[in-house]
Amino acid sequence: MASVLHYAEGKVNELVDSVKRHKAGEGERLVTGMAPYGVGQPLKEYSYVSPKLKEDEVEIKVMYCGLCHSDLMMWRNETMNSVYPFIPGHEAIGRITQIGDKVDASKFPTGRTVGVGWMRTACHECGFCTSDMDNVCDKGVGTIENGNNGGFADYIRIDSKWVFPIPEELNPATCGPLLCAGITVFSPLKRFGALRGGKKIGLLGLGGLGHLAVKMAKAMGNYVVVFSHSEDKEEDAKAFGADAYVNYESTASPVGLDDYNQKLDFVLCTQYSQLNWLSFMEVLKPRGTWVLLGVIPSVVVPMPMTSLLLKERTLTSSKVGSSNDHEEMLNFCAQHRIEPDIEHTYKLEELQQAFDDFDKKGFKYRAVISVDPQL
Ligand SMILES: [Zn+2]
Ligand SMILES: [Zn+2]
Repeated sequence: MASVLHYAEGKVNELVDSVKRHKAGEGERLVTGMAPYGVGQPLKEYSYVSPKLKEDEVEIKVMYCGLCHSDLMMWRNETMNSVYPFIPGHEAIGRITQIGDKVDASKFPTGRTVGVGWMRTACHECGFCTSDMDNVCDKGVGTIENGNNGGFADYIRIDSKWVFPIPEELNPATCGPLLCAGITVFSPLKRFGALRGGKKIGLLGLGGLGHLAVKMAKAMGNYVVVFSHSEDKEEDAKAFGADAYVNYESTASPVGLDDYNQKLDFVLCTQYSQLNWLSFMEVLKPRGTWVLLGVIPSVVVPMPMTSLLLKERTLTSSKVGSSNDHEEMLNFCAQHRIEPDIEHTYKLEELQQAFDDFDKKGFKYRAVISVDPQL
């Protein structure tokens, strides 16, 4: 596990001042964004010098960056790999300003609109990287993990393998959340056969991930039932295309689930509070699959093995998606005009407010930070 550095505020300010005084040398870039200086500390302006562009890296001038629950988790070091200060943000949309010597200039011409997601780099060589599973590479690094700096900043320099052209059909101001929330649901939909249509899918939870999952699963031609504990989201679910909606808290469990007894091919689960796991598992067909999504380290699944064994069910999870899946997802969303629903767009200097709003009341679906919309 990565070491965690907790700076005292005074020490951090000295550090920031020293970085600001340090002028970027030839080929380097002085990057300015917003960073917490310690666990859950306020987000303040922060600058760092990004080293010379590596041969396989690109430099991006950031326009917009989506706000994800994982940014809040990293802010509070809930995954125990935050190194402070660091700039959060891992759903960045911007334009190419420079490319390294070995980067394909036809794919990444200067000015091209591109996106960055959860992954910053991987080894490119291991068995996972060479078999379309580079998202689980042992040497993979998250965009904002271990002290790396993300997209709530004017620039980001990053491995071109994890930078993705944004199709013209997508709106740079709103499509950022596709790079984390979107790929997190697209990849398991593809892995469990929904891309070809004809599956019966359950979606547990209708938030940032869930609402994109409904849109994508329907565009792929599947039957979708949303299970939610919200009383006010049925209309939205239907508007996103869901075939059915079950408010599982308004029914004495397992009554609300009876209609789906052994009916569903798989369930994408993004909602964990007060779940009756035993009742829910029964909605899966024999050999059906339950997919845990999102990063909530406190979640423990109380699962008697017989719930799995008797119907040969699978309990699994999924981590964003491979680099190839990212490109496929963006092209799919462009083709079907699928975009996240953005409740609020904040300015970069309002980042603390955005974090507080997300923390205290949440967003109905998603929020975006406008970094430099004039680009
Ligand atoms: Zn995320
Ligand atoms: Zn690898």
